[in-house]
Amino acid sequence: MAARAPRAADLSELDAAVADCFACPRLVAWREEVAEVRRAAFRDQVYWGRPVPGFGPADARIAILGLAPAAHGGNRTGRIFTGDRSGDVLFAALHRAGLANQPTSVAADDGLELRHTRIAAAVRCAPPDNKPTPAERDTCAPWLHREIELIRPTLRVVVTLGAFAWAAWWPTLRQVYGVRPPTPRPVFGHGAHWSCDAVPQVLGCYHVSQQNTFTGRLTPTMLDEVFARARSLAGLDELH
Ligand code: SF4
Repeated sequence: MAARAPRAADLSELDAAVADCFACPRLVAWREEVAEVRRAAFRDQVYWGRPVPGFGPADARIAILGLAPAAHGGNRTGRIFTGDRSGDVLFAALHRAGLANQPTSVAADDGLELRHTRIAAAVRCAPPDNKPTPAERDTCAPWLHREIELIRPTLRVVVTLGAFAWAAWWPTLRQVYGVRPPTPRPVFGHGAHWSCDAVPQVLGCYHVSQQNTFTGRLTPTMLDEVFARARSLAGLDELH
């Protein structure tokens, strides 16, 4: 299961292996139940109903780390942040930042391509109420660690969407980079920035959930500022 993650030789092998993971009984049951029952609007669709791999090129300089796939978004379409309102907001912002070739993300075969950017979730199966347990986060961590290891040569910046992803990042420092995570842990906040020699810099961003975007807690301008900063820290502005 997740113990197979370290053996994946490249991202395509990792993506294929994670899609076949059954390590968390509660999440396996939930992702399959949602795929079976479906939402009325998608009743004629076949849900993915499996773990959702990361998405984006292997030479990414920026990693975007989310919480977990949405029950009727990634768990339906098979691609992270695809087919839900959170994704609408995120990909529109990535397109404005020049990090995506189109502003929409509706299905796995819609032609979307990311530039210099890889998106992954800290937990790869849709959890009930969008709330994975700490044990599920830890069980899933080897998938994240191997993914980061595979993009390590180019990775410069990690944008964490929300406090859960922010907290899930720190063990990666030890597992992938052999660096002791900071103690106490840096406090999450929108615009929070952490840096240390020889490891990716970390930016905090409020999650693109409807709860944040519908209430104005997170605006398109705030997202534009985060991705402009990520581009700059990743050295992308010098490339183009
Ligand atoms: S959450 Fe992660 S470890 Fe658990 S079943 Fe899904 S992919 Fe496997």
